[in-house]
Amino acid sequence: MAKRTKKVKSVGRFQARYGVRARSRVRNIEIYQRAKHPCPSCGHIKFRRTETSIWQCQKCGAKFAGGAYAFHTEAGQTVERAISGDQTIEEKPQPKETEAE
Ligand SMILES: [Zn+2]
Repeated sequence: MAKRTKKVKSVGRFQARYGVRARSRVRNIEIYQRAKHPCPSCGHIKFRRTETSIWQCQKCGAKFAGGAYAFHTEAGQTVERAISGDQTIEEKPQPKETEAE
């Protein structure tokens, strides 16, 4: 099939709207979420998002709850580390409140 879009890919549906930054962010997320990934259970490249945050292997049928658009999220990895006991959840240092006079 002929290439329909040169570089805009799935965000071509927005045409000229929303600005180039927002559109390219959406494009990068959609490329990832629609791609097939290696299955954490059997290793075949058949693992894909079936619904929001539901990821399933089309080979072995293993089903996982992951991030809404990406299987691994930064917040999810922090929680996984905490559960496995390697590290406690690091609290981000709060910005110091300036003393008002
Ligand atoms: Zn699998």
